[in-house]
Amino acid sequence: MKYTNFKVDIDSDGIALVTWDMPDKSMNVFTEEVMKELDAIVDQVAKDEAIKGAVITSGKDTFSGGADLTMLKRMFQIFQEEKAKDPKKAVELLFETTGRMGGLFRKLETCGKPWVSAINGTCMGGAFEMSLACHGRVVSDDPAVKMALPEVKVGIFPGAGGTQRVPRLTNQQDALQMMTTGSSLTAARARALGLVHEIAPAKKLVEAARKMIRDGLKPVQPWDEKGFKLPGGAIYSAAGANLWPAATAILRRETYGNYPGAAFILKSVYEGLLVPFDTALKIEQRYFTRILQTTEAGMMIRSLFVSLQELNKGARRPDDVKPTKFKKIGVVGAGFMGASIAYVTARAGIPVVLLDQSVEAAEKGKAHSAELITREIQKGKAKAEDKDKLLEMITASASYDDLEGADLVIEAVFEDREVKRAVTEKAEAVLKPGAIFASNTSTLPITGLAKVSVRPKNFIGIHFFSPVEKMMLVEVIMGKKTSDKALAVALDYVRAIKKTPIVVNDTRGFYVNRCVLRYMSEAYNMLVEGIPPAMIENAARMAGMPVGPLALNDETAIDLSQKILKATLADLGPKAVDPRHVELVDMLVDKYDRRGRKNGKGFYDYPPKPAKKHLWPELKTLYPQQDAAGVDVEVLKQRFLVTIALEAARVMEEGIVTDPREADVGSILAFGFAPYTGGTLSYIDGMGAGKFVELAKSLQKKYGQQFKAPKLLQDMAEKGETFYERFNPYRGEVGKAA
Ligand code: NAD
Repeated sequence: MKYTNFKVDIDSDGIALVTWDMPDKSMNVFTEEVMKELDAIVDQVAKDEAIKGAVITSGKDTFSGGADLTMLKRMFQIFQEEKAKDPKKAVELLFETTGRMGGLFRKLETCGKPWVSAINGTCMGGAFEMSLACHGRVVSDDPAVKMALPEVKVGIFPGAGGTQRVPRLTNQQDALQMMTTGSSLTAARARALGLVHEIAPAKKLVEAARKMIRDGLKPVQPWDEKGFKLPGGAIYSAAGANLWPAATAILRRETYGNYPGAAFILKSVYEGLLVPFDTALKIEQRYFTRILQTTEAGMMIRSLFVSLQELNKGARRPDDVKPTKFKKIGVVGAGFMGASIAYVTARAGIPVVLLDQSVEAAEKGKAHSAELITREIQKGKAKAEDKDKLLEMITASASYDDLEGADLVIEAVFEDREVKRAVTEKAEAVLKPGAIFASNTSTLPITGLAKVSVRPKNFIGIHFFSPVEKMMLVEVIMGKKTSDKALAVALDYVRAIKKTPIVVNDTRGFYVNRCVLRYMSEAYNMLVEGIPPAMIENAARMAGMPVGPLALNDETAIDLSQKILKATLADLGPKAVDPRHVELVDMLVDKYDRRGRKNGKGFYDYPPKPAKKHLWPELKTLYPQQDAAGVDVEVLKQRFLVTIALEAARVMEEGIVTDPREADVGSILAFGFAPYTGGTLSYIDGMGAGKFVELAKSLQKKYGQQFKAPKLLQDMAEKGETFYERFNPYRGEVGKAA
C-alpha cells in the first residue's frame, strides 16, 4: 500500500518499518490525513499475517512536534460554527472529534501485533502519546532528543491517552509534575521514570527496536494484563493519601486557579486511575471536551501556539523582499546590552564585529560571551567545543573600518542623542549603501534618530529586552521613513537568532514599555492609597503576572523610573505625570537612596544570600495603611489587568501596533501578561468589549482617569466587536508594514 506521509517497508523477519516523513514539511505533525493513514497502517499490520510487528520512526531529524496547528484551528472553527446552530450538538461533535486521536492510539495498542516507537529526535505532545501507546519505546542517545507533553503551556492538556498512560507507567507524583509543567524529559530521565524502555545509539536505534520485536515483545500493555498494579500505588493507598491533598494545594499555589488545563490533568489522573482503562480514556475525553470550551484554552492556543508560530515564521514580513543571508553583523557599544546582542548573534552562527570606544571595552564585552557559553556548557546545553567556535565568531574592535561589508549594524551605545548621532554618522560612512542601521534605544523615537541618517529608509529600531539571552521578544520599530526592505532585514535577523518579533510604529515607549509603565504606575497608586505592599504584590501574582510590580520596578531600577518621570514632565508638561508618583519616587531615590536591586535597596531589601529578598519594612510607614481585611483582592487584580489592557487598546487605536497577534504575543513574552488570558487584547476579547468597558468605567469612577476607555473600545462595545474581527490579521490588510 502507498501512503503520502509514511513509508512502510517489511523486512525478511516480517517486521514493518513505518517511517513517518511528511512531504513539504520540515517537521512531522498530526493532521487528519496523517491520522487516516496511520489508521490504515494499523489495519495493514493487524491483518497481514506476514507482518509480525511494526517499528515506527521518523524520516526527519526530529520525531514529531505533535498536533498540527491548522487542525486545532479548524476544530475550534467548526465548534464555533456548530455552536451557533445547535450548542448541544456542537458539544457532541466536539466530544466525538476529540476522541479520534485517542481512539486511534487505543486501536494501535490493542491490534494484536507489537508496536515499537523508535524515537530518533524530539518527540512532543500527540507524538509522545502515540509512542506511549506502543508496546516498546527506544530512544536515541543523541543529547538533543527531548520528549514532553507540553499541552498545558497552551491551555489544554494531553488528551489522547497521555493522562492515563503516564501515571500507569510511572509514579503519580512524577506524572503530575511532568504534565502540569509541560517540562521536557531527556532520554535518561524518561528511562528513569519508566516511560521508555531503552536508550540506543542513534545509528542503531531502528535495529534495537526491531530486536525488541524479534525477542518476543508482547503486544499487550501492562494495564491490559490481568492483575495490573499501578507502579506508584493506588489512589487509595498510603502513597496516594500522602500525594493528593498536597498535589491540589501545590496546584493552587502555582496557578492560583487560573489554569483549568492543569486542574483537569489532576482530575483526569485521579478519576481515571480508579476505573478500568477504557473508562479512564472516556473520562479524559470528557475533560478534554470541556477544556476546549474554556475561554482560557481558546485564547492560549491562539496566542501561544498559532500566533506565536505565525509571527516566528514571518507573518509580518514583506514578501516581496528577498531573504537576507547574514555574512556579518556589527554591534556598536559593547556594554550591558551590546555584549549580549553580540552573544545571541554569534550563537546563531553569524560573524559579529563588536565595537566600542576602546579595544579593551570591546574585549570586555566579548568576555561576556565567554561567560555565558561557559554557563551553557555547565548546564549541558552546549558542547565544550562550542566555546571556541563562538568566540571566533566575535571580533572585538575599536575601528569603524571593521564594520565594512556588514549587512546590518545594531547600535547599543549610551541613551544619548548626540552619542547616537556620532555613531550613526561614523558607521554609515563605511557601510555599503544597502546595509541596514538599527538602534536598540529604549526611549528615543526612531524617526528623530533617523534624521541624522543619510539613508533614513535603511534606519530601523531593533529593541531587545534584558536579559537578551533569555527574553524571547524583540520589538522592531518602524520610523516614518523606514522601508519594507529594512523591515524585512530586521525580521530576518530576529528569525535567525530564533526570537519572536513584533512590528511597532514609532512612539514614546513603543508598545511594551508603555504597558509596563501602566503596571508599575497602578502599583504606585495603590501604595499611595495605603494598600499593604504585600497585598499589592500578591494580588498581581494572583492575577497571573509572573513578577509583582514592585519587584519588577526594583529590577528595572527606581532611578530609571525617576528619569522617565522627569523626561515625561519636561517633554509633555505637568499634566502627563502624577505628582504623587513623582513624590514617591523622589523620596525613595533622593531621601533613602533606594534605587532597586542594583544597589540592594528598593521596594525590597536584598540581604546577602542565602537569605531571600523581602519587602522593605519601612514601606508601610510612608503612607497610612488600610486594613487588609477591608481591601478587595479581586478589585486589585482587575486594576492591574485592566490598566495594562487599556494601554494596549490605546496603542491599537493610535495605530502603533496594527496586528492583534503582536499585541497579545508581545505582552506575554515581554512582561508575562497573565498568559491564561491569551494576552492584553485577548483579555478584552475573552470578556467581551461591552463588559470590559463597563468594568473600566466602574474602576474609573473609583480610581481615576487611567481607566478611561478609549473611543475605539466604546465603539467596539457598541458593535459587539472583538479585536480579531476589527483588526482581522488574516484579511491581508495588516500583513504589510504600516
Ligand atoms: P551601557 O552603558 O551598559 O553600554 C553602552 C556602551 O556603549 C558602553 O560600553 C560604552 O562604552 C559604549 N559607547 C558609548 N559611546 C560609544 C561610541 N561613541 N562608540 C562606541 N561605543 C560607545 O548601556 P546599555 O544598558 O547597554 O544600553 C545601551 C542601549 O540599549 C541604550 O540605548 C539603552 O536605552 C538601550 N536598552 C537598554 C536596556 C537595558 O535594560 N539596559 C534595554 C533595552 C534597550
